[in-house]
Amino acid sequence: MTQQFSVAGQTAVVTGGTKGIGRAIAERFVAEGADVAICSRTEEDVDEAVEALNEVSGGSAVGRACDVRDSEEVQALVDAAAEEFGTVDCLVNNAGASFMAGFEDISENGWQSIVDVNLTGTYNCTQAAREHLVDGGGTVINLASVAGQKGSPYMSHYGAAKAAIINLTSTLGYEWAGDGVRVNCIAPGYVATPGVASQMGVEPGEIDRDDIDRNVGVSEEIADVAQFLASDASTFIVGETITARGVPDIEETPNA
Ligand code: NAP
Repeated sequence: MTQQFSVAGQTAVVTGGTKGIGRAIAERFVAEGADVAICSRTEEDVDEAVEALNEVSGGSAVGRACDVRDSEEVQALVDAAAEEFGTVDCLVNNAGASFMAGFEDISENGWQSIVDVNLTGTYNCTQAAREHLVDGGGTVINLASVAGQKGSPYMSHYGAAKAAIINLTSTLGYEWAGDGVRVNCIAPGYVATPGVASQMGVEPGEIDRDDIDRNVGVSEEIADVAQFLASDASTFIVGETITARGVPDIEETPNA
């Protein structure tokens, strides 16, 4: 691999690293020689994922149950990663959740919970990791969504939270550049993670990466972008959101 794409020797914290996109990012980083700390709210899933990650040859993995909405639990996760591996070079704010509902059917509690896990979770983890990231000139990689780039029917809470993450990425990219920290973001379209695959009836194994003409990706394609953003190959990319969604959503102009 070309050296500037390497993440070897880094320590990364990947929230929501037990499943889907976060799991693929954690696996990729470990396979490429990074040490990884993961979390999710479900302890047995964390234990299973850490065991599997430690079977991948490369770096090592630790994990703990942590709800990104709880700033104390988040601080404990970041501190445990720094204690185990000496530092935190990369924070991947991947933990996220959503449900579909018309705006009028979203209760205050439902709204708050989606904003909290996606946006406040990103705030909590980024605040907690700051001192370590500043130490070594680290990177933050946020996970937004194409739902945060334009209107997203029946996902108003999620779309609004993801739009805020895109905006936060650019503001923080600006504010923290002087401290040597690069903040960027990935906005995936549909990715065949277990949850999305069951909704869409598409299994990850059915997706052919060689087929360019598609709108459903696999988690490894998002891990590719995350590795790029964590590596020195992207040093001139700051505060940006990279869209990974396959074929763009463009309306054809009749008779143009
Ligand atoms: P997923 O398969 O549902 O996995 C989400 C992960 O986050 C799980 O490990 C989950 O574990 C964890 N998590 C959820 N709430 C948490 C909380 N409060 N605290 C800590 N961990 C929590 O999700 P995914 O599809 O891989 O999506 C990953 C990210 O990409 C999300 O930010 C999502 O919004 C974004 N995204 C996904 C797609 C897609 O098509 N898949 C598209 C656009 C954007 P527990 O439930 O056990 O806590």
